[in-house]
Amino acid sequence: MQADPQMLRSIVIVGGGSAGWMTAAALANAVGKSIAITLIESDAIGTVGVGEATIPPIQSFNTRLGISEADFLRATRGSYKLGIEFVGWGAADSRYFHPFGTYGADFDRVTLHHWWLRERLRGDTTPIDDYAMCWALARENRFGPPVDNVRDVRSTHAYAYHFDAGLYARFLRDYAETRGVRREEGRITHVARQGESGLLTAVTLDDGRMIEGDFFVDCSGFAGLLIGRTMETPFESWAHWLPCDRAVALPCANTGPITPYTRATAHAAGWQWRIPLQHRQGNGHVYCSAVMSDDEALGVLRDHLDAPAIADPRVLRFTAGRRRQAWVGNCVAIGLAGGFLEPLESTSLHLIQTGIERLLLLLPDRGHDPLNALEYNRATALEYERIRDFIILHYHANTRDEPFWRQCAATPVPDELAYKLRHWTGSGRLVAPQDELFRNPSWLAVYLGQGLVPDRYDTMADLRAAEVDPPAQLRRLRELMRAAAQTFPAHDAVLARFAPQPAA
Ligand SMILES: Cc1cc2nc3c(=O)[nH]c(=O)nc-3n(C[C@H](O)[C@H](O)[C@H](O)COP(=O)(O)OP(=O)(O)OC[C@H]3O[C@@H](n4cnc5c(N)ncnc54)[C@H](O)[C@@H]3O)c2cc1C
Repeated sequence: MQADPQMLRSIVIVGGGSAGWMTAAALANAVGKSIAITLIESDAIGTVGVGEATIPPIQSFNTRLGISEADFLRATRGSYKLGIEFVGWGAADSRYFHPFGTYGADFDRVTLHHWWLRERLRGDTTPIDDYAMCWALARENRFGPPVDNVRDVRSTHAYAYHFDAGLYARFLRDYAETRGVRREEGRITHVARQGESGLLTAVTLDDGRMIEGDFFVDCSGFAGLLIGRTMETPFESWAHWLPCDRAVALPCANTGPITPYTRATAHAAGWQWRIPLQHRQGNGHVYCSAVMSDDEALGVLRDHLDAPAIADPRVLRFTAGRRRQAWVGNCVAIGLAGGFLEPLESTSLHLIQTGIERLLLLLPDRGHDPLNALEYNRATALEYERIRDFIILHYHANTRDEPFWRQCAATPVPDELAYKLRHWTGSGRLVAPQDELFRNPSWLAVYLGQGLVPDRYDTMADLRAAEVDPPAQLRRLRELMRAAAQTFPAHDAVLARFAPQPAA
């Protein structure tokens, strides 16, 4: 059979941050033998260079590329992540864990959390955390992958990684270049478009070189060089819901064991991340510049570091929101060029991953059928909005007594979030759609963790209570999980296997 004469011959990726090199690696893996792929980056401009915590689907990105977990963790100085510990998000002294995986296992047709709500109303004060295998492991600094047996509680957890995103980009660059991706260094000073169609045709670098392409991926970061400046796609700001617009990042040395979880601690006008890697601890303070100055924010961060800083602070500015259209003509924006949601639930690298997967599903030919872009934009908008709502929930459902937090609690939420909240507060029902990134257990973690405890539960629980003996079943599950956690090794011991090997 003859190849499609309209097939794309060349793809140009603009930008060499995590988005650029993840895209280059995935394209090289999928279509590198048929399409010439060029990546342009400017060392003078540099990259955002933060982005250390992820969520479980990142595993499938690496697997699809044929990258082993051991190679990946060694190259990126990574650690395992079982979830996020939230400190001070409900009342000032509160804490809870958002685990990956489920609260489980269900021991009846009634979902576990309804039994938990029922016992809670009868005076049981056991936190819901105690029914998550992720927390059973995290509280003990233990780690191991889930077992492949659904009847075993050790199959109910899931995991992701913390890693150095700069090292990951470097690792993927090697991967992509080995598979034929051409890298061009230089600053783009001009972008050419075809008059009638408006399609992009070429970019020109500061030394005069011109690089042509059939299709362009804008991974130029916050600059949005192609999608914003050239295609003039408007940016939709969500700052009224998510008012934090700056972060100061400041790594320090690890003290104590490397914890297999991220910590997010709320402060007076934002929150602080703590992300343990093999060689250092990533820290940062996300804050609202209308309420707190850069100096104050840095002071708060320094006051809450586990150890003295080992680098100079870096301040980053951003606005929560997204491009109204991520794909226009023959240009798609992936990464920060397409939108930004603060790293509270570690979703940016995931949005890059799904952006790439969607692009591969909808890869056009040189006819550039607008239907491809239409579908890409529909799915991207939905994905961004659902993640946005989940992040808004953390701000909305707080009971802190500071002006910033009172304002967040008082701001009306988007309609779909309001709908979910009505179900939860009215009946304890969880209604996240099956195809949503954050599934019911995630919503449950944040609702309960931040003090939104409904006084209703599934009536089926009362109808079945005589048959089930819920207090005994719940106690058994807790004990099972605690005992199961003891069968896993210490996280530090697992990581020792991935320490960098000395040079030969
Ligand atoms: C404070 C903060 C914390 C974060 N934490 C996390 C986290 O924990 N987990 C997570 O998943 N994500 C996190 N992120 C997001 C993550 O850092 C980014 O999504 C990721 O790094 C992708 O960035 P990027 O590649 O789109 O942009 P960048 O890293 O900014 O790369 C842009 C590239 O474009 C190039 N470029 C720009 N203009 C030109 C030009 N004119 N000519 C040539 N080249 C050009 C630059 O040289 C660079 O190579 C965080 C982001 C911030 C701001």
